[in-house]
Amino acid sequence: MTGHVLKFLGETKLELGGAVARLGNWCVGRDGDGILWLVLDKKDTGTNTISEDVIRELDGHISAAEADMPTALVIRSAKPSGFAAGADISSFDDMSDTGAEALLQHGHDLLDRIAALPCPTICVVHGAALGAGFELALTCDYRIATPGASFGFPEVQLGLHPGLGGTFRLPALIDPLDAMTMMLTGKTAHTDRSKASGIADVVVQERHVAAAVKAAAKGKIDPPTRGLKAHAMAFDQARSLAARQMRSQAEKTAPKEHYPAPYALIDLWENHGGDPKAMQQGEIESFARLLKTDTSKNLRRVFFLRQSLKEAGAEDDSITHVHVIGAGTMGAEIAAMAAIKGKRVTLGDVNTDPLGRALESAVQICKDSHLSLIETRNALDRLMPDPKGYGIGQADLIIEAAPEAMALKKKIFTDLKGRMKDGAILASNTSSLSIADMATHALSKTHFAGLHFFNPVSKIDLIEVVKGPDTDAQTVTRLAAFCKSIGKLPSMVSDYPGFIVNRVLTPYLMEAMVLMDEGVSSEAIDTAALRFGMPMGPVTLADQVGLDIGLHVAESLRQHLEKPMAEISAALRDKVKAGDLGKKTGKGFYDWSDGTPHPHSDAELPADLTDRLILPMLNACVEVLRQGVAKTEDQLDGTMIFATGWAPFRGGPMHYARTRGIAEITTRLKELEQTYGPRFAPDAGWQALG
Ligand code: NAD
Repeated sequence: MTGHVLKFLGETKLELGGAVARLGNWCVGRDGDGILWLVLDKKDTGTNTISEDVIRELDGHISAAEADMPTALVIRSAKPSGFAAGADISSFDDMSDTGAEALLQHGHDLLDRIAALPCPTICVVHGAALGAGFELALTCDYRIATPGASFGFPEVQLGLHPGLGGTFRLPALIDPLDAMTMMLTGKTAHTDRSKASGIADVVVQERHVAAAVKAAAKGKIDPPTRGLKAHAMAFDQARSLAARQMRSQAEKTAPKEHYPAPYALIDLWENHGGDPKAMQQGEIESFARLLKTDTSKNLRRVFFLRQSLKEAGAEDDSITHVHVIGAGTMGAEIAAMAAIKGKRVTLGDVNTDPLGRALESAVQICKDSHLSLIETRNALDRLMPDPKGYGIGQADLIIEAAPEAMALKKKIFTDLKGRMKDGAILASNTSSLSIADMATHALSKTHFAGLHFFNPVSKIDLIEVVKGPDTDAQTVTRLAAFCKSIGKLPSMVSDYPGFIVNRVLTPYLMEAMVLMDEGVSSEAIDTAALRFGMPMGPVTLADQVGLDIGLHVAESLRQHLEKPMAEISAALRDKVKAGDLGKKTGKGFYDWSDGTPHPHSDAELPADLTDRLILPMLNACVEVLRQGVAKTEDQLDGTMIFATGWAPFRGGPMHYARTRGIAEITTRLKELEQTYGPRFAPDAGWQALG
């Protein structure tokens, strides 16, 4: 098939001088200057991944180039979504069973051949070049980036490190310490940083790519110069010193027993950093070993849990205008996120101060999200303070984020009657109030639902979409689509005290308070949770959420659940009464005046401590499954991981329960019930899981 003109990046057409053919996942052609273009356009998907077939086909194209050497080779993507998202993770299970080393070796041999081609090799990157996509780019002599391009190695989030040469090609290209930081943290280098660090040789607008390619093909782009640090790190002693620091840094966020990959990478670099051949062999062996670890298997599971949450809901939300009521902690960030993602947003509040602060926080979120000045300006143009509520009549979706008081919310809903557009959806961000109760005051019960965001909205990926008894299916699917359109993961849940997340988390927080009442130190309690793998101990978390909010949610759950729950701690009530509400007031159970506390205890922890914290969460998970609040164990696991950071390397609370054994967990719950009381009684739902 020849003569095919590539439709490229929507508007822009990539015109090639010679004939272009689609061969499998690649579009291939030589232009009038004899430059060979290999354009990746993976079939049947919007995103390129570097899968086995992509590698096999690339092998064929490189063989053809070796036989008939072009003046230069260009590799780029035809997908508007970006260059390539990395390896095909769905193949990793098979790979780990059937000898990963041989496959990796084949990939390495191919990339080595590209690196050894005598003609200039050029990778053009728009959007993200991640993982194996980045490694492919690194084999080329030049990387030409367009604005918005980014480069990164997210493998560490899958319990792995780069496996196709990234561990030695990136440290050979840029400051080795920066390279290690990128691989150890999984953080992406956005366009400016990629240029400054030397990953990208030039950054040009799409319309100048052809000229930049020609310049690179003629050797007119200077390669980056390598600095002093690169030379210093060629010495074993310098690497050993740096490696020690990296290990102690990694220990703070990723303890070795839970997350082996960063340590495997540091070992590899420390031992072989001066020798690319040894690095290559070591990388292959280490990657193959990590693939088989429970941590990597569970983190890969987490990757797919994210995918499955993304599948929920309609494609199109038909929501262009959002009106947010309440510009406080939650409303401000909800409005900012919606505006950044292209919605027209009006934001109302009874006071004007919060509206001003909301705009300031929107600017900060744009900055943290690496938006360009133009993107920031456009987002801010779409976000309109609206104290008089003019936007109410135009909005397709109204999100209420006023204080958590039923009477106030009911009044707000009543005031909206007659002012909303036909077919508009009204959603409440309530954490603990009944959607069914609130719906009685909404104009349309079918178009009313909960939309439970988490704090901070800009950082937490998940939103619970809460279906009330009368919410119609279309409203739920539109809301799920809305969540996706603002870059979030929807979890569709039914109306239940605390929904999923607060129902599961509250017993954990309450048990921590009971333990403190018993005299166990907050440091010991938090240390137990951190050792289990929670991102933050329950006492720190309670302080962070706000003790008043925690108390309110706990009281509400105690009132509405039939099950026995822990007594609300006297210390908690006292703190709230004294106005020591945690992080927001500078003092709660911890002192926050010098920033986030880092509780740590070396003392021996009480025997039942960890189970007393963790098992009540598992028990509540089983309850919400039995009640149909969550539909599947996977949904529940994904919801807890993406809303709370629940020990991801354990694959989620239900996966952990299954790994440890349903019988073992119920036996432990019965023992705890005997010793500490009926709040530990195993939920009836465990029987169905056994
Ligand atoms: P907040 O107190 O920070 O903000 C509430 C805002 O609403 C204030 O700016 C206030 O001036 C404004 N307001 C009060 N009455 C109003 C009215 N009649 N009309 C318009 N605006 C009015 O509260 P928040 O923490 O943002 O919580 C808002 C909602 O989100 C609550 O339902 C809460 O339960 C829920 N929520 C909070 C969190 C959290 O961590 N803060 C997390 C999830 C959900």
